[in-house]
Amino acid sequence: MNVQSAHEVVALSQGVLAGDRASVARAVTLVESTRSDHQVLAQHLLALLLPHAGQALRVGITGVPGVGKSTLIDALGMQLLALGHRVAVLAVDPSSTRTGGSILGDRTRMMRLAQSERAFIRPSPTSGTLGGVARATREAMVVMEAAGFDVVIVETVGVGQSEITVAGMVDCFLFLTLARTGDQLQGIKKGVLELADVIAVNKAEEPHTATALAAARELQSALHLVTPTDAPWQPPVQTCSAQEGTGLAELWATVLEHQVVMRSSGLRQARRESLGQKWMWAMVHDGLLARLHAAPSIAAMLPDLERGVADGTVPVGEAAARILAAFSSAPK
Ligand code: GDP
Repeated sequence: MNVQSAHEVVALSQGVLAGDRASVARAVTLVESTRSDHQVLAQHLLALLLPHAGQALRVGITGVPGVGKSTLIDALGMQLLALGHRVAVLAVDPSSTRTGGSILGDRTRMMRLAQSERAFIRPSPTSGTLGGVARATREAMVVMEAAGFDVVIVETVGVGQSEITVAGMVDCFLFLTLARTGDQLQGIKKGVLELADVIAVNKAEEPHTATALAAARELQSALHLVTPTDAPWQPPVQTCSAQEGTGLAELWATVLEHQVVMRSSGLRQARRESLGQKWMWAMVHDGLLARLHAAPSIAAMLPDLERGVADGTVPVGEAAARILAAFSSAPK
């Protein structure tokens, strides 16, 4: 059933707050929708849910395809369920917006977790820009938290902008990698290391344990070069085997330790506040752009202007100024 009215939104929010899985799924579908009428209802829903959100520990996990993200989330998730947590997994997969298929957050990749009543796995939305997908993920996070999931894992692939986006929306950002030494270390993008709060070398089981430990030590030295020595948190490099489930308890202990340091130094609050502001401006930008593109007077002038800019007959600055002027005088 589609959510069509404010009345239904109230009922949906009650279902979410009661932890009803069907309501959670419908609520996420609503916030993911890019239709403007759905967006109005979604914002209404979020306003009802927001007072009940913000309590979960949000953990981002990144790494190249094949590194073992889904195996790790499945194994770690099961350990967290055993500790009494409720675990939600969301995905930000920039490739899915192009190909229409999500390679992350797929239920079949997290077989054990997917079967639990106390876990919820949501693949990446397969339409929209990275900005739109990120907005949907932030809002889905609110739905999950309001539904009582106290650990929210956001998974992303190790490709550029999506990591920065995800790092900005979580409390702890975990970078998963494989044993690499010497020149191979160059392959790990410096930018990712700067974003990571915790790093884990995966597939560290026999006969590769020694290699993985050596790689972890080498990575730790490289990391010291990019972390300011006076930073309250020095990202540690650990080893684990997602397949055997070893090192995961230690990894989680480090995530919790990171939270203690971030809270006591005031950085956690600062990170969340700046996130709120970023989110607000991202929504303003998205909203303004959507209105701009929806204005008929602008749609009418765009083909000529774009062609003019492309063939050099209209200066770029002038084209932008004309679009903005038309937007200012368009009926609101
Ligand atoms: P993702 O693409 O990062 O999600 O990686 P997957 O979790 O799908 O894992 C990719 C492959 O690596 C699969 O065949 C897994 O079984 C395997 N794998 C994952 N973790 C480990 C591990 O700790 N040790 C070993 N030996 N294989 C692993």
